[in-house]
Amino acid sequence: MKTVDDLGKLKGKRVLVRSDLNVPLDGATITDDGRVRASVPTIQRLVDEGARVIVLAHLGRPKGEPDPQYSLAPVASRLSELLGTTVRFASDTVGVDAQRTVAELGNGEVALLENVRFNAGETSKDDAERGAFADQLAALADLFVSDGFGVVHRKQASVYDVAERLPAAVGGLVQAEVEVLKRLTESPERPYAVVLGGSKVSDKLGVIDHLLTKADTLVIGGGMVFTFLAAQGHGVGTSLLEQDQIGVAEEYLSRARELGVSIVLPTDVVVAPEFKADAPATTVAVDQIPDDQMGLDIGPESAEAFAEVIRGSKTVFWNGPMGVFEMAAFAAGTRTVAQALTEVDGLSVVGGGDSAAAVRQLGFTDDQFGHISTGGGASLEYLEGKTLPGLAILDESGSEESA
Ligand code: ADP
Ligand code: MG
Repeated sequence: MKTVDDLGKLKGKRVLVRSDLNVPLDGATITDDGRVRASVPTIQRLVDEGARVIVLAHLGRPKGEPDPQYSLAPVASRLSELLGTTVRFASDTVGVDAQRTVAELGNGEVALLENVRFNAGETSKDDAERGAFADQLAALADLFVSDGFGVVHRKQASVYDVAERLPAAVGGLVQAEVEVLKRLTESPERPYAVVLGGSKVSDKLGVIDHLLTKADTLVIGGGMVFTFLAAQGHGVGTSLLEQDQIGVAEEYLSRARELGVSIVLPTDVVVAPEFKADAPATTVAVDQIPDDQMGLDIGPESAEAFAEVIRGSKTVFWNGPMGVFEMAAFAAGTRTVAQALTEVDGLSVVGGGDSAAAVRQLGFTDDQFGHISTGGGASLEYLEGKTLPGLAILDESGSEESA
């Protein structure tokens, strides 16, 4: 895969950078700027080399046309602050304003184009429609750098098609992500524990499937655990339960036994009568969940057992909060697991949008972990062993030239 080093002299070149700036917004206020921060090093490097940097990104899920609530304007301000230089903001992606903004860029200057998903061609399933939009994107620049890890699993114009149209390289962020994910799948140092939580089993089936053959221990908490507990014959009250996945959970439990992978499930859970921050919470054993209560966090005994497995591992991958961490009463399990990850003597990786948000919300800093992945879906798909189109296309364009 070509890196920025392989693009040659960058001074004066117009470099289109696909970043992942999909931050949570409250009105026009960014509530977690982690992704903006993560995108800075690649942009800064291009600036330092005198490139004319054109940043391309999406925000939210607009429907292929301009929608002010998803404007990237607030991100342009934050990016300006972080870079310590004015980032020019174009009010469209490939229109008159984008073209003028790019034409006016000096060496070492940065522009951010408006939300790429304001254009129907970006996410179109029709190759020709996507290609036509990618032509317009490519016309703005001389080179392309793919640095939005959160989108490399998407076959979209600004991720995939544009890489076919310009000399392309992978940015430092994507490169770092891929290196870490490789370590998790190819040669993890043992013991290797995979910790899964979050809301749905059905979201994580592929990962469980693939990692069952790689990990030594699979630790399961969060909302998805109730489907596993149901598979073991426990009553789960009104907890989150995917009835149609109970069979699958059963199958994983028996496959794990065959493979010699130990599966660690909670022994106690924090329950409450309602999904509410101030609902009265109590801790019960897993076989004592009352019919009219729901499990909203793993209990303290389980959290400690999970932490022990984590601390005793050399490689840990964690995806999915252990409970409804958004509510203080149900955040303890997630906090204990996060704390244990910070104490791992080896590689600890946090993957998943909500998991990354959880560790930051709970007051942990990024540098306490080996790696916090910026891309939830992308890291999961990589760990499932799938081919990510945004990476595959960079491999192809690289090998064409060396062939
Ligand atoms: P990620 O984005 O890190 O992959 P998910 O999206 O799978 O994580 O899951 C995150 C969500 O799971 C959080 O919003 C959290 O509140 C929810 N969750 C965790 N445990 C439970 C539970 N016991 N019941 C309901 N929801 C839960
Ligand atoms: Mg999520």
